[in-house]
Amino acid sequence: MIDAPQHAGLASVLDYSSEQSLEPGALVRVPLGRREVAGIVWRGLAARRDSGVTLRGVTEVLEAITPLGPRWMALVEFAASYYQRAIGEVALAALPAELRRLSAAQLAARVRRAQRAPESGPKAVAPDIALAPEAVATVRPLLTDEQTRALAAIDEAAQQPHAAPLLLHGVTGSGKTEVYLQASERSLARGRQVLMLVPEINLTPQLLARVAQRFPARRVVAMHSALTPAQRLQSWLVAHAGMADIVLGTRLAVFASLPRLGLVVVDEEHDASYKQQEGARYSARDLAIYRGHLEHVPVVLGSATPSLETWQHARSGRYRRLALDQRIAGATLPRVQLFDMGTLPRAPGQALPALAPPVLDALRERVAAGQQCLVFLNRRGYAPVLHCPDCGWKSDCPHCSAWRVFHKFDRTLRCHHCGLSEPVPRACPSCGNLDIQPIGRGTEKLAEQLAAELPQARIARLDADAARGRGALEQTLGAMHAGEVDILVGTQMVTKGHDFRRITLVVAVNPDSALFSSDFRAGERQFALLMQAAGRAGRDAAQASNSRMWVQTWHPQHALFAALRRHDYALFAERLLGERQAAGLPPFAHLALLRADARDAAIAGRFLREAATLAATLQEADGVIVYPPVPLPIARVADVERMQMVAESASRARLQRFLAAWTPHLQALRAQSKGLARWAIDVDPLAI
Ligand SMILES: [Zn+2]
Ligand SMILES: [Zn+2]
Repeated sequence: MIDAPQHAGLASVLDYSSEQSLEPGALVRVPLGRREVAGIVWRGLAARRDSGVTLRGVTEVLEAITPLGPRWMALVEFAASYYQRAIGEVALAALPAELRRLSAAQLAARVRRAQRAPESGPKAVAPDIALAPEAVATVRPLLTDEQTRALAAIDEAAQQPHAAPLLLHGVTGSGKTEVYLQASERSLARGRQVLMLVPEINLTPQLLARVAQRFPARRVVAMHSALTPAQRLQSWLVAHAGMADIVLGTRLAVFASLPRLGLVVVDEEHDASYKQQEGARYSARDLAIYRGHLEHVPVVLGSATPSLETWQHARSGRYRRLALDQRIAGATLPRVQLFDMGTLPRAPGQALPALAPPVLDALRERVAAGQQCLVFLNRRGYAPVLHCPDCGWKSDCPHCSAWRVFHKFDRTLRCHHCGLSEPVPRACPSCGNLDIQPIGRGTEKLAEQLAAELPQARIARLDADAARGRGALEQTLGAMHAGEVDILVGTQMVTKGHDFRRITLVVAVNPDSALFSSDFRAGERQFALLMQAAGRAGRDAAQASNSRMWVQTWHPQHALFAALRRHDYALFAERLLGERQAAGLPPFAHLALLRADARDAAIAGRFLREAATLAATLQEADGVIVYPPVPLPIARVADVERMQMVAESASRARLQRFLAAWTPHLQALRAQSKGLARWAIDVDPLAI
């Protein structure tokens, strides 16, 4: 088994000869053409002895590494088949790059190094996890009744070979993390390993610190893309050898080799970052469920705002819902107030203020009282577009069907899709007018306007631009925790799991665009974001009772806000599920996308139309609807035209059968399609 992408049309299963008998799962290096590549001896693939072909020999066996286990191989086989990729591609991509690169001798040295126990001492409890400076309690806090019941249910699931997955549905601040920690503790006591998945590790350094400090005698390793290749290899080796007790990682960690796995936790299971967006487009959340089923271990999905798929499984009884409805330690959820932007007096020719007067007053009041505020606007940059009022020119990207965003701090126009960055022109490139103007508002401009309105406030910004410099993110989060910031302005980055204790006011600016988006998941995502944002306030009992959330909207009557005011996820979820059912959308239908990219939209379109014609000839297409090709919402990125086509079925099994029959035909079709840059199948896509 070698790494050969399915769409390349090269088989990933190749036969080699070996003098010694090799166990399935053994890692080897083999010749491929003139190169030498890493491979895995796969099970159930009998050599074709009678074919008369002389097989090339295995170059070397990576003997220092014990063979990968049958359950790991079963997980890879499932992922490859479900997401329509080659087994070799999925298997090799799941291994650290260093494992594929190093020779047997080099690897043997790394294995010896990894096996040495890390030095003791507070800084070294986790080889890859740096502890946050703030002290975190190492003692177990008393549990609420709800937490106790949730833990008992996880225990019960651990005793059964085929327990249902568990949805830990807890409002923000209800103590989900404590449940993960104590469930982990019990799993460790049974001699098992714990896999804990988180959406983005950099945004939640506190969770890492909490895990490492709670289990000072255990080996905790991190697995995420920000590690160096050597660190990634080290974590992988320690986990594979069964020496890591807890693996904390992002989506790629779902493939970690864990011989003693006993518990899987998926924190913030609704988060879009669990879906891989290139190569094998897998959902780590869904693979975690499958892995639990394979290994007979409990899987805990945690969220305050579960995905509708998960919620529907909980309603139907396929998943068991464990509710944490109360915030711990006297914390309460903030009172949500809506400001109707339509009521602002509007002077002709004058722009509306960024923040409504009562919202500004509230900010001023909180800052004066020494409390912290969070202002959430999901748009980075200074202004989303520059515009010439004389000739109508707009700052479009020459390579994409998108506007370039004005960034004031370095005076650039930047495309957020292809990355093109150029200095802001002095004059309109089309007519020479010197007075070109920004339209709209991003976080950078909002922070500037806030600073003008509240000169006494210490304002910080948190978005992808502000977090770019090395250590910048940690610095901003640290300043916020230390109380050195009064108002934190930012994109959705500010809404993620931070446990800021002093926030009593959250402001959401212009959350309306998602209300009328063509993306069927936009409403679900926006509601989750606003619930998360609200959850940042009132975490400290002393100030919880006066915590507030202000939402500035043009559509105060929208059902989303009614549910938000009541902090009622279930109410909104029921409504959305009703809409999805009526429209035949997930979770009531199953979707796959066929994507095609080409310089010329006509080429991509032709490939998709021919693919549709092929689909119609397949017997397996029964019960599957293939819709006509359409351009992606942003059709052109970096001069590549992107088209897609939806295949839909009420039955997941039927869709799977169809895709398995269709894919080989697509490989053949691709070979005939001149000018096609790439194609891919996306099963269970996040957006269509
Ligand atoms: Zn102009
Ligand atoms: Zn661009």
